[in-house]
Amino acid sequence: MVTNKQDAAVIGGAVSGLAAAHRLNKIEKISDVTLFERQEYDEKRVECGEAINDTSLIPIEKTEENGFVNNVSGFQLQIYSGTNRNPDEKPYAVSNLNCDPGYICERDLVEKSWAESLEQDGVQIETGTPILTSEFESIVESYDYVIDATGQPSLSLKARDATHEYTGDMVALNATVEGNFKEYLDWPRIFFEGYIGYSWAFPKSENQANVGIGWAGSERPDDYMKAFETAAKRNGFPIPARGDTNIYTIPKGPSLDPSRVYFPEDNIFLVGDAAGIANRYQGEGICQAIRSSYLLCDLIKKGSESQYPKKLYNSMKSEYRLASLMRGVWVEHEDPELMATVAESLEGLTIDDITRSPRNVIKRVLRNPTVAAQLMTDKGMVKRFVNAYTDNWEYNSSSA
Ligand SMILES: Cc1cc2nc3c(=O)[nH]c(=O)nc-3n(C[C@H](O)[C@H](O)[C@H](O)COP(=O)(O)OP(=O)(O)OC[C@H]3O[C@@H](n4cnc5c(N)ncnc54)[C@H](O)[C@@H]3O)c2cc1C
Repeated sequence: MVTNKQDAAVIGGAVSGLAAAHRLNKIEKISDVTLFERQEYDEKRVECGEAINDTSLIPIEKTEENGFVNNVSGFQLQIYSGTNRNPDEKPYAVSNLNCDPGYICERDLVEKSWAESLEQDGVQIETGTPILTSEFESIVESYDYVIDATGQPSLSLKARDATHEYTGDMVALNATVEGNFKEYLDWPRIFFEGYIGYSWAFPKSENQANVGIGWAGSERPDDYMKAFETAAKRNGFPIPARGDTNIYTIPKGPSLDPSRVYFPEDNIFLVGDAAGIANRYQGEGICQAIRSSYLLCDLIKKGSESQYPKKLYNSMKSEYRLASLMRGVWVEHEDPELMATVAESLEGLTIDDITRSPRNVIKRVLRNPTVAAQLMTDKGMVKRFVNAYTDNWEYNSSSA
C-alpha cells in the first residue's frame, strides 16, 4: 500500500522543540513525531531566566503545578546614572510596562509539564542522552523532517563544523535566590545602569526570585561573577551563591544568515536559539523560539516549508530593527538621562509593543520633539537607523 505519511524528529526538548513537536503532532500528513532531549525532564536544569512574556503561546494550563508561579502585571524599568553611584541615589526614571499574559516561571517545570502533555498526545519522547554529531547523519536519513531545536550553537552547525557562522552574542548570568520580594512581586524589576545590558530581579514568590545580569555590548567585565555580586548589592537583591549561578551566551538576532536556518538537501530546519533569533537588545528568546516553531509547522502543513527562512526573517524584522535602535540609545549617546527620558516616554506601553512594534515606540518618543531631535541628530544613530532599515547585520557586514 502506498502511504503519503511522513515522520519528523525534533532534536532538543526545551521551548522551541516542545512547540515544534506540539504543532507537528497536529499535522495530518505527519504520522510520527519523536522528540530527543539530552536531559531527563525530572532533572532538567534550565540555564536561563524565567520570564515568559506571552504565556498564551504555551498550550497547558497556567497553574503553579505546571510551573507558572507568578502572574505578573508587567515589568518595571529603573534607569540609573551608572554602576559607581551612591547607594542612596534615586533612579533617573522609573517606567512600568504592562504585560498581561506574562508570568515568572519555573521553566524546568513548564517544560516537564508540556512534555508530559505531548507524550499523552502521542509524541514519542526520548530523554537522557544527547544526539551526538556522529549520530546526526543517521537521524537525518531516518526521518522525513528534522527540526533542530538544540539552542546555540546548534547541532546542525556543529555537525557541519560551522559554529563560527554565528555572529553576535550576549553573555548573561543568573541564579535563583531567597529573600523578601513582597514589595515588587507584581512588577519584577529591570535595572539599566549605564552599560549595554541590564540586571534583573524577577520574583517567583514572596521569598524567591530569579536574578541576573547580562551584557549585550562588546565592553564586558573581566570578572563576570564579581560584577553580578556588585549589581546585587546596588540593586537591593540577595547576592547569589557562586555555585548556583549559571553563565550562558545568548544569540543576538539575527546572528546567523537567515538562509542557514534551512538545509534543503537534508530537510533540516533550525528553530529558536539554534536559528539565532533572540532579541538583540534584551535577550528575550522564549516567545521568539516558540513562534519560530509554530511558523515552521504552519508552513509544513501547507507544504510551503521552503519559504521558512524568508518568512522567519520577515516575521522578526521589526523586532531586530527596534532592538538595534533601542541599543543605539545607549551605545551612541552613553547618556543615562536621555535613556531615562526615553524610558519615561514608554510608560504604559506593553512589553509586546516595546519588543515588536517600532511604530508604537516611535510615536511615543516623537511626543517629546527635543528628545527625538537629540536622538536622531547623532551620526551613529543615523547609521544605525540606515543599517537596520537596509537589513545590514553582522552576518553580512561589519555593522553593530
Ligand atoms: C541567563 C539567561 C536569562 C534569560 N532570560 C530569559 C527570559 O527571562 N525570558 C526569555 O524569553 N528569554 C530569556 N533568555 C533566552 C532564552 O532562554 C532562550 O532564547 C530560549 O531558551 C531558547 O529556547 P530554545 O528551545 O530554542 O533553546 P534552549 O533553551 O537552548 O534549549 C535547547 C535544548 O536542546 C537540548 N539539547 C541540546 N543539544 C542537544 C543534543 N545534542 N541532543 C539532544 N538534546 C539537546 C538542551 O538540553 C535543551 O533542552 C535567557 C537566556 C539566558 C542565558
